[in-house]
Amino acid sequence: MLPPLARRFVAGESAAAALEHARRTNERNVGVICNRLGEHYRERAPAAADTAAYERLVADIGASDLRACISVKPSQLGLLVDETFFRENLARVVESAAEHGVFVWMDMEDHTTTDAAIDAFETQAEAHEGGVGLCLQSNLRRTADDLERLADVPGKLRLVKGAYDPPADVAYQRKAEVNEAYRRDLEFLFRERTGGIAVGSHDPEMLTLAADLHSEYETPYEVQMLMGVRTDAQYELADVCDVWQYAPFGSEWPAYFWRRVLERKENALFALRALAGG
Ligand code: FAD
Repeated sequence: MLPPLARRFVAGESAAAALEHARRTNERNVGVICNRLGEHYRERAPAAADTAAYERLVADIGASDLRACISVKPSQLGLLVDETFFRENLARVVESAAEHGVFVWMDMEDHTTTDAAIDAFETQAEAHEGGVGLCLQSNLRRTADDLERLADVPGKLRLVKGAYDPPADVAYQRKAEVNEAYRRDLEFLFRERTGGIAVGSHDPEMLTLAADLHSEYETPYEVQMLMGVRTDAQYELADVCDVWQYAPFGSEWPAYFWRRVLERKENALFALRALAGG
C-alpha cells in the first residue's frame, strides 16, 4: 500500500485509486491527467503490459463522467526496445482512447528520444485530429525550430522547462537562459498556434505571462501542474482558467516520489516533518 508520505505526489498504486483521485480533484474544478508510472523499458513484455493497461484505463475513463485524460512516456511504450514497436503501441493506445473520447498526452523524455517522439506525435495527431498532445522542453536549443515545424499540426502542445539534464551542445544550462527560452517559446505558441496550448509550469512568472499573452492574442490555453505541487494555486487558478493536474499512479511510485522530494528544499522538509510525525 502507498505510504501516507507518498500520497501527496502519487494518486495510488492502482488505476482505480487514480480514478478516485480524479473524482475528488474534479470536485475542485481541476481536470486530471493520469500517468501510469513506468519508463525506460528494455524488454517488450513490460511495454506491452503498460500498453494494455492504458487501453483498459481509457475505457474506464470513457465509461465514467470524469474530466480525465492520460499521459504516456515513449520509453514506457517500448521506444528503447524498437521504434516500430513503440509506434505500434502508441497507435493502439491512441486508437482506444479515440474510441472512448479520451485525450492522450505524450511526455517528452531525454533529448536522444525527441526526434522519435515528435515523428510519432505527428503521425498520431494527423490521424486523430484533436486527440493527441505532445510535451516540448524549452531548455533544448532545438525547441524553437520544433515549434515552427509543429505550428500547424493538429493537437495540443505542452510547454515545460525540461526535467532532464542534457549536455551544453543541445541545451541551455543556466536557469536564466532556460527561463528566457520558455518566455520566447510561450510567446510563439500564443502568437502562432491554432491548436491547444498547455502551460506546464508552477512558476508564477510564467503563469502571469501566459495570462497576459492570452489577453493579447485570445488563444485558448490550459495550465498543467503536478499533483502535490502548489495545490492551492491549482484550485485558485481553476476559477479563471482551465487547469489540469498531472497525477502519477502505479506500483513504480518510489523513484518518482523521491525525485519530487529531492528536487526542492521545501519538499524535503515536508518529507522529514512527515517522517518525524509532525
Ligand atoms: P521552476 O523553474 O522549477 O521553478 C520556478 C518557480 O516556480 C519557483 O521559484 C517557485 O516559485 C515555483 N515552483 C516550482 N516548483 C515548485 C514547488 N515544488 N513548490 C512550490 N513552488 C514551486 N518535464 C519533461 O522534461 N518532460 C515532460 O514530459 C514533463 N511533463 C510535465 C508535465 C507537467 C504537468 C508539469 C507541471 C511539468 C512537467 N515536466 C516535464 C517538468 C518540467 O520540465 C519542470 O522540470 C518542472 O515543471 C519545474 O519547472 P517549473 O516551470 O515548474 O518551475
